[in-house]
Amino acid sequence: MMTIAVYPGSFDPITNGHLDIIQRSINLFDNLIVAVAKNTEKNALFTVAERIEIIKDAVREYPNVNIRAMDGLLVDFARNVGAKVIIRGLRAVSDFEYEYQMALMNKRLAPDIETIFMMTSGKYAFLSSSVIREVSMLGGNIKSFVPEKSYEFLMKKFNCGG
Ligand code: ADP
Repeated sequence: MMTIAVYPGSFDPITNGHLDIIQRSINLFDNLIVAVAKNTEKNALFTVAERIEIIKDAVREYPNVNIRAMDGLLVDFARNVGAKVIIRGLRAVSDFEYEYQMALMNKRLAPDIETIFMMTSGKYAFLSSSVIREVSMLGGNIKSFVPEKSYEFLMKKFNCGG
Protein backbone atom coordinates (compact mmCIF):
# COMPACT_ATOMS: atom_id res chain seq x y z
CA MET A 1 0.00 0.00 0.00
CA MET A 2 1.21 3.50 -0.81
CA THR A 3 1.80 5.67 2.22
CA ILE A 4 0.93 9.27 1.58
CA ALA A 5 1.89 12.04 4.01
CA VAL A 6 0.76 15.66 4.10
CA TYR A 7 3.11 18.44 5.16
CA PRO A 8 0.92 21.47 5.82
CA GLY A 9 1.98 25.04 6.46
CA SER A 10 1.99 28.62 5.30
CA PHE A 11 5.38 28.42 3.58
CA ASP A 12 5.47 32.22 3.25
CA PRO A 13 8.07 31.70 1.82
CA ILE A 14 9.59 28.22 2.07
CA THR A 15 12.95 28.13 3.89
CA ASN A 16 15.81 25.62 4.02
CA GLY A 17 14.30 24.44 7.32
CA HIS A 18 11.08 23.41 5.54
CA LEU A 19 13.09 21.87 2.71
CA ASP A 20 15.05 19.77 5.20
CA ILE A 21 11.80 18.38 6.63
CA ILE A 22 10.61 17.61 3.08
CA GLN A 23 13.85 15.82 2.16
CA ARG A 24 13.75 13.71 5.31
CA SER A 25 10.05 12.90 4.90
CA ILE A 26 10.39 11.56 1.38
CA ASN A 27 12.76 8.91 2.72
CA LEU A 28 9.94 7.64 4.93
CA PHE A 29 6.83 7.90 2.74
CA ASP A 30 6.00 6.99 -0.84
CA ASN A 31 4.39 10.30 -1.56
CA LEU A 32 4.50 13.66 0.16
CA ILE A 33 1.93 16.36 -0.43
CA VAL A 34 3.01 19.83 0.59
CA ALA A 35 -0.24 21.62 1.47
CA VAL A 36 -0.10 25.40 1.27
CA ALA A 37 -2.71 26.87 3.59
CA LYS A 38 -4.99 29.41 1.91
CA ASN A 39 -6.52 30.72 5.11
CA THR A 40 -3.32 32.55 5.98
CA GLU A 41 -3.58 34.67 2.84
CA LYS A 42 -4.68 37.85 4.62
CA ASN A 43 -1.46 38.54 6.49
CA ALA A 44 0.73 36.83 3.96
CA LEU A 45 3.63 38.37 2.08
CA PHE A 46 3.16 36.10 -0.94
CA THR A 47 -0.04 34.81 -2.54
CA VAL A 48 -0.75 31.09 -2.46
CA ALA A 49 0.06 30.93 -6.19
CA GLU A 50 3.44 32.58 -5.59
CA ARG A 51 4.20 30.31 -2.63
CA ILE A 52 3.35 27.26 -4.73
CA GLU A 53 5.52 28.46 -7.60
CA ILE A 54 8.46 28.89 -5.21
CA ILE A 55 7.99 25.44 -3.62
CA LYS A 56 7.63 23.78 -7.04
CA ASP A 57 11.00 25.12 -8.04
CA ALA A 58 12.61 24.11 -4.73
CA VAL A 59 11.40 20.49 -4.97
CA ARG A 60 11.73 20.09 -8.75
CA GLU A 61 14.20 17.23 -8.31
CA TYR A 62 11.92 15.15 -6.10
CA PRO A 63 9.44 13.14 -8.17
CA ASN A 64 7.39 11.97 -5.18
CA VAL A 65 6.49 15.44 -3.89
CA ASN A 66 3.28 17.20 -4.91
CA ILE A 67 2.19 20.70 -3.97
CA ARG A 68 -1.41 21.66 -3.40
CA ALA A 69 -3.32 24.65 -2.10
CA MET A 70 -5.46 23.85 0.92
CA ASP A 71 -8.41 25.58 2.48
CA GLY A 72 -10.69 24.28 5.18
CA LEU A 73 -9.84 21.61 7.69
CA LEU A 74 -6.49 19.88 7.46
CA VAL A 75 -7.95 16.48 8.37
CA ASP A 76 -10.53 16.80 5.59
CA PHE A 77 -7.78 17.65 3.14
CA ALA A 78 -5.71 14.69 4.35
CA ARG A 79 -8.66 12.30 3.93
CA ASN A 80 -9.44 13.64 0.46
CA VAL A 81 -5.92 12.96 -0.76
CA GLY A 82 -5.75 9.56 0.96
CA ALA A 83 -3.08 10.56 3.49
CA LYS A 84 -2.78 8.72 6.79
CA VAL A 85 -0.01 10.93 8.13
CA ILE A 86 0.43 14.62 8.88
CA ILE A 87 4.02 15.83 9.21
CA ARG A 88 4.92 18.79 11.39
CA GLY A 89 8.33 20.17 12.28
CA LEU A 90 9.41 21.12 15.78
CA ARG A 91 12.07 23.68 16.53
CA ALA A 92 11.83 24.87 20.10
CA VAL A 93 9.70 24.33 23.17
CA SER A 94 7.75 27.36 21.98
CA ASP A 95 6.44 25.34 19.00
CA PHE A 96 5.31 22.54 21.26
CA GLU A 97 2.20 23.87 22.94
CA TYR A 98 0.43 24.88 19.73
CA GLU A 99 1.47 21.73 17.90
CA TYR A 100 0.39 19.53 20.80
CA GLN A 101 -3.04 21.16 20.93
CA MET A 102 -3.55 20.89 17.16
CA ALA A 103 -2.39 17.27 17.08
CA LEU A 104 -4.82 16.29 19.84
CA MET A 105 -7.68 18.16 18.19
CA ASN A 106 -6.92 16.57 14.82
CA LYS A 107 -6.82 13.16 16.51
CA ARG A 108 -10.30 13.77 17.89
CA LEU A 109 -11.55 14.89 14.49
CA ALA A 110 -9.84 12.06 12.60
CA PRO A 111 -8.64 9.14 14.77
CA ASP A 112 -7.38 7.33 11.67
CA ILE A 113 -4.79 10.00 10.86
CA GLU A 114 -1.48 10.26 12.74
CA THR A 115 0.50 13.44 13.28
CA ILE A 116 4.22 12.77 13.20
CA PHE A 117 6.70 15.35 14.45
CA MET A 118 10.12 15.71 13.00
CA MET A 119 12.76 17.52 15.02
CA THR A 120 14.51 20.31 13.17
CA SER A 121 18.09 19.76 12.08
CA GLY A 122 20.19 21.81 14.51
CA LYS A 123 21.51 24.07 11.78
CA TYR A 124 17.97 25.20 10.91
CA ALA A 125 16.62 25.57 14.43
CA PHE A 126 16.61 29.39 14.19
CA LEU A 127 14.88 29.55 10.82
CA SER A 128 11.28 30.61 10.32
CA SER A 129 9.47 32.28 7.45
CA SER A 130 8.65 35.25 9.66
CA VAL A 131 12.31 35.86 10.60
CA ILE A 132 13.24 35.55 6.93
CA ARG A 133 10.56 38.08 5.93
CA GLU A 134 11.63 40.53 8.60
CA VAL A 135 15.38 40.34 8.00
CA SER A 136 14.84 40.48 4.27
CA MET A 137 12.57 43.52 4.53
CA LEU A 138 15.24 45.30 6.55
CA GLY A 139 17.88 44.56 3.93
CA GLY A 140 19.71 41.68 5.64
CA ASN A 141 21.24 38.96 3.50
CA ILE A 142 19.14 35.80 3.80
CA LYS A 143 20.46 34.08 0.68
CA SER A 144 21.96 31.09 2.49
CA PHE A 145 18.78 30.36 4.46
CA VAL A 146 16.26 29.88 1.67
CA PRO A 147 15.95 28.10 -1.71
CA GLU A 148 16.93 30.14 -4.77
CA LYS A 149 13.37 30.99 -5.82
CA SER A 150 12.42 32.23 -2.33
CA TYR A 151 15.41 34.55 -2.47
CA GLU A 152 14.51 35.78 -5.93
CA PHE A 153 10.91 36.52 -4.88
CA LEU A 154 11.97 38.25 -1.67
CA MET A 155 14.42 40.45 -3.57
CA LYS A 156 11.70 41.38 -6.05
CA LYS A 157 9.21 42.10 -3.29
CA PHE A 158 11.53 44.40 -1.41
CA ASN A 159 12.97 46.05 -4.51
CA CYS A 160 16.51 44.97 -3.86
CA GLY A 161 17.30 44.33 -7.49
CA GLY A 162 18.16 40.70 -7.09
P1 ADP B 1 2.39 27.26 10.02
O1 ADP B 1 1.91 28.62 9.62
O2 ADP B 1 1.38 26.18 9.90
O3 ADP B 1 3.15 27.20 11.33
P2 ADP B 1 4.91 27.24 8.66
O4 ADP B 1 5.07 27.44 7.21
O5 ADP B 1 5.41 28.30 9.55
O6 ADP B 1 3.40 26.91 8.89
O7 ADP B 1 5.58 25.86 9.06
C1 ADP B 1 5.12 24.64 8.58
C2 ADP B 1 5.71 23.51 9.40
O8 ADP B 1 7.12 23.49 9.25
C3 ADP B 1 5.47 23.66 10.90
O9 ADP B 1 5.26 22.37 11.44
C4 ADP B 1 6.75 24.26 11.40
O10 ADP B 1 6.97 23.92 12.76
C5 ADP B 1 7.75 23.57 10.50
N1 ADP B 1 8.99 24.35 10.38
C6 ADP B 1 9.15 25.62 10.00
N2 ADP B 1 10.44 25.99 10.03
C7 ADP B 1 11.14 24.90 10.44
C8 ADP B 1 12.52 24.62 10.69
N3 ADP B 1 13.45 25.57 10.54
N4 ADP B 1 12.85 23.39 11.12
C9 ADP B 1 11.90 22.45 11.30
N5 ADP B 1 10.60 22.63 11.07
C10 ADP B 1 10.21 23.84 10.66
